[in-house]
Amino acid sequence: MQQRVERRNLAVQAAAKQGLLDPDGAPLAAFVDLDGLAESVSALHSAWPQPSLVRHAFAAKANPLVPVLRKLRELGMSCEVASPGELAQAHAAGFGGEEIVFDSPAKTRRELERALAEGVAINIDNFQELARIDDMLSQRPSSSNIGIRINPQHGSGSIESVSTASSMSKFGIALNDEGNRETLIEAYLSRPWLRWIHVHSGSQGVPLRLTAQGVAMIVGLAEEINEQAGHQQVTGIDVGGGLSVNFDSEHDSPRFHDHVAELMAAAPALFSGRYRVVTEFGRSLLAKNGFIAARVEYTKSAGGRRIAITHAGSQVAARTTLVPEAWKLRVAAYDQIGRPRLGMPIEQDIAGPCCFAGDLVARGRALPLLEQGDIVTLLDTGAYYFSAPYRYNSLPEPAVHGFELTEDGDVAFTLLRRAETVEEVVGR
Ligand SMILES: *Cc1c(COP(=O)(O)O)cnc(C)c1O
Repeated sequence: MQQRVERRNLAVQAAAKQGLLDPDGAPLAAFVDLDGLAESVSALHSAWPQPSLVRHAFAAKANPLVPVLRKLRELGMSCEVASPGELAQAHAAGFGGEEIVFDSPAKTRRELERALAEGVAINIDNFQELARIDDMLSQRPSSSNIGIRINPQHGSGSIESVSTASSMSKFGIALNDEGNRETLIEAYLSRPWLRWIHVHSGSQGVPLRLTAQGVAMIVGLAEEINEQAGHQQVTGIDVGGGLSVNFDSEHDSPRFHDHVAELMAAAPALFSGRYRVVTEFGRSLLAKNGFIAARVEYTKSAGGRRIAITHAGSQVAARTTLVPEAWKLRVAAYDQIGRPRLGMPIEQDIAGPCCFAGDLVARGRALPLLEQGDIVTLLDTGAYYFSAPYRYNSLPEPAVHGFELTEDGDVAFTLLRRAETVEEVVGR
């Protein structure tokens, strides 16, 4: 944890020195701590017992940059995708069909045909999609692992917009709606190729115990199907992702180990050795291993409040500016050459460059007084921030740099995505 802070501080200073945060050419850039990413993947692998029975698929939407996906593949991960674009990104990163899981609530016929032909695993979202797959498999067999996504409807977390297991969620088949459990069991019993089952019951703001309860309900359903079938028909359980990230401090908490401990308590059958398991973590692998850095262009005060106007706003942190109470970010202050700013904390607003008043990444935040030319960093933004841009004011997407520490403690950068040019913005 301390090492992550040290690496970040070294990276900010090296970036300032090497012109990656040039006040004119690159007042905004994003960074991914590749050493930290490797540590997070290793923590995930070591948290899970029976490694030969589990495959960890990275949820591409959390950070779909092809070099990031390639790195995750090198680290032994599979990939979860939910659109033709993400599927193409996964392929570009080197993932073969059998290393990919396709989850989308709106898969077209063409997308399904392609996935079945490539052996991509499919989680069916609803009964109409199931009928489509019936039709396709009657024409051409497939090696894909196929399951149904079940919504255990066991409750939401603290952030409604990302909670997937509420009673009226748009995702999956609602397990407790009248007749669905019987219809689902019947659907499995009459289709020997239906051998997987899927749930994604965690999300940011969902407590571990609640997530584990959702998984336990799906494991219970798998056990019931197998009992009625009289043999092990369901052989695989995809438990989704959704481990919450701590946006308040440097700590990784909860940890993958905590999640697995809750699952073991709630759903011991998952670890009985009778099931293969797939996980789909996104945010918990990337969030704390990425940050956004921006120059302070101007400072001023209004109504007694100090304001730092920076180059990082809604274009890279839309969730935070639009729904600040749910997605508060930590901000760190650095001087012009990238040394951590020390000094008395003073309440300041940290504003972005966009032309609307709510374009603030932090409000009334106590930080050492920022000055023109300083650097601010938005922490824990490696997932769903710079990788999910908002095109307000035609601002270009910033460059994304990966960094690693060399043996002599120097920072080595690799370009993960170059900055978008104004010509490309025009081409949009
Ligand atoms: C978004 C998503 C994930 C990853 O969720 P995180 O909160 O980023 O871990 C996993 N599975 C599915 C189906 C998803 O939609």
